[in-house]
Amino acid sequence: MIILKSREDIQHLRDAGHIVAEVHALLLENIRPGVTTKELDQIAESWIRKSGATPSFLGYPPGSRVPFPATICASVNEELVHGIPGPRVLEEGDIITVDVGAFYKGFHGDAARTYPVGAISDEATRLLAVTRKALEISISQAIAGNRLGDISGSVQEYVESQGYEVTRQYTGHGIGREMHEPPQVLNYGKRGSGMRLRRGLTICIEPMVLIGTPHTRVLKDQWTVVSANNKLTAHFEDAIAITDGEPEILTRL
Ligand code: MG
Repeated sequence: MIILKSREDIQHLRDAGHIVAEVHALLLENIRPGVTTKELDQIAESWIRKSGATPSFLGYPPGSRVPFPATICASVNEELVHGIPGPRVLEEGDIITVDVGAFYKGFHGDAARTYPVGAISDEATRLLAVTRKALEISISQAIAGNRLGDISGSVQEYVESQGYEVTRQYTGHGIGREMHEPPQVLNYGKRGSGMRLRRGLTICIEPMVLIGTPHTRVLKDQWTVVSANNKLTAHFEDAIAITDGEPEILTRL
């Protein structure tokens, strides 16, 4: 867990987050029917490297038997997280979650968005809106003096009130010199419980939302996580810093 103290460290974390936000702006321009997930990966990687950063996910985790082989996680439709970019061509009506991580001057940035590909169904539109709003609601709970459970509980309460499910297996996390640091930021829990939030704590909050089941399974590639019922899923994530007032969102322009 990292509690930021020096101005320099905070600035590096902001810079890493800014690069991630720029990649998402580029992706927004390039996600359309006909593009492959590999092309999106190349766009992200070249921007990250041009910015003097390196992709956080490529080769992650170090020393593993099946390290992640790309810059972005590209997860289409029923794929919740950790999809591997490749020759798949996006089609009108798909939704694609892109998770981006960049490492810059010793610090990581990390953020995910689910994008529509062309015109999408009403069901998909609503799923994206609810997941995005779950992120906004939970970020608003990320205030010094509140507890971790205020973030987690607000995600679960809102998502379930809208008739959807939250994953139990995949969580947000602390972020700083390591991409994944304590504490785990669950997508479910009880308000008023858990660690007290304090100024300088930097975390990724990342609601992952499913339709009709909270359960998932991992495909044979050992990375791609899909909903157990193959229904659509969505995922929005930002890295934020706890301050004395409103949280600072590090991964938006
Ligand atoms: Mg993350």
